[in-house]
Amino acid sequence: MSFSADKIKADFMILNQLVNEEPLVYLDNAATSQKPTTVLATVEQYYRRNNANVHRGVHTLAERATAQYEAARQKVQHFIHAKESAEVLFTRGTTTSLNWVAKSYGEASVHQGDEILISVMEHHSNIVPWQQLAKRQQAVLKYIDITPEGLLDMNSLRSQLTSKTKIVSLAHVSNVLGVVNPIQEIAHLVHEAGAVLVVDGAQAVPHQKVDVQELDVDFYAFSGHKMLGPTGIGVLYGKRHLLEQMEPVEFGGEMIDIVTEQESTWKELPWKFEAGTPNIAGAIGLGAAIDYMEAIGVDNIQQHEQELMQYLWPKLTAIPGLTIYGPAKLEQRTGIITFNLEDIHPHDVATAMDMEGVAIRAGNHCTQPLMTRLGCGSSARASFYVYNTTADADKFVEALIATKEFFSYGTI
Ligand code: PMP
Repeated sequence: MSFSADKIKADFMILNQLVNEEPLVYLDNAATSQKPTTVLATVEQYYRRNNANVHRGVHTLAERATAQYEAARQKVQHFIHAKESAEVLFTRGTTTSLNWVAKSYGEASVHQGDEILISVMEHHSNIVPWQQLAKRQQAVLKYIDITPEGLLDMNSLRSQLTSKTKIVSLAHVSNVLGVVNPIQEIAHLVHEAGAVLVVDGAQAVPHQKVDVQELDVDFYAFSGHKMLGPTGIGVLYGKRHLLEQMEPVEFGGEMIDIVTEQESTWKELPWKFEAGTPNIAGAIGLGAAIDYMEAIGVDNIQQHEQELMQYLWPKLTAIPGLTIYGPAKLEQRTGIITFNLEDIHPHDVATAMDMEGVAIRAGNHCTQPLMTRLGCGSSARASFYVYNTTADADKFVEALIATKEFFSYGTI
């Protein structure tokens, strides 16, 4: 079946509405994506027909719920090419996944004077857990810089990897610069140095094929809500031998094997990490989102976003006064455009664009160190996805030009 963003858009009812009397153009996909009808229907069907707690019951509904929940885990396993479903842990999202690694693996392996290496382009959720770990363990948190073009500086990475480095944690795709970091190459360097590589895949899994075995990452984190699935569900992938060494982060029901008055033992992987009633509907909804993405083809999604960028780029770069952050070469970018328009405050830009029905984000995008590094404090961001069309791209450009004109009247 040939790819049609217009047809795909029809599966997202939320996009079919007027905002400020203009047709909605949703370009805030890096923050969260919309959900297709199949995902909504799957979640609704689960609550209407099969709702029960998982793993504990022997009655029919409990068995159905458990089967659907575990089937979703297998979908995730195949989607990211994990060796086995036991390596797929359900979490609340990327943030929780990264916190689990920092808390459990981090506290066991990082000691006084050891080093943790991250980059200046990280999201706060891939900074703050490591800051806290470094403080607790009296370790050193070091930063890989970016090049003047806005790419991860591989020389900075190489020169900072030492025998003291225990953990390297990096974004696969930056939520601001839109660049894809060469994770496979980095994994090789990190392993040579004797450290483990943690990858924040929040902006990668929704948009490109991810094969955790080919990348040879040790841990990989992502969120369901950015890939057409529900909020409150995410994934932590970990290599079995690492997850086996690790202590659970949370304790309680579901994750135990035997409990006596003073001692307990844990279930096997993956359940030893999943304490309490999990987000069953969320996991099943994520499974439906994966089915939807696979029916389109992840390569087709990626190609569509690249074609949209090729269409958009010359129109954007023709707007005087528009500063776009990140590489100037289109082939080094994904569907994220972070920018400032002259000296108009990005919140004003986003508010003016909203009046035209165009939803974009403004602020620091949870990347304050990067904003400081870029010298801008805050910026506006448009981020595209599978259901965005060239008409959306045109509307975005039109709204930008209108915004620029609107604010220029006040500065005469
Ligand atoms: N990392 C990156 C690169 C992100 O873009 C985001 C979401 N903005 C996160 C981590 C955090 O994801 P979540 O809020 O779903 O935990």
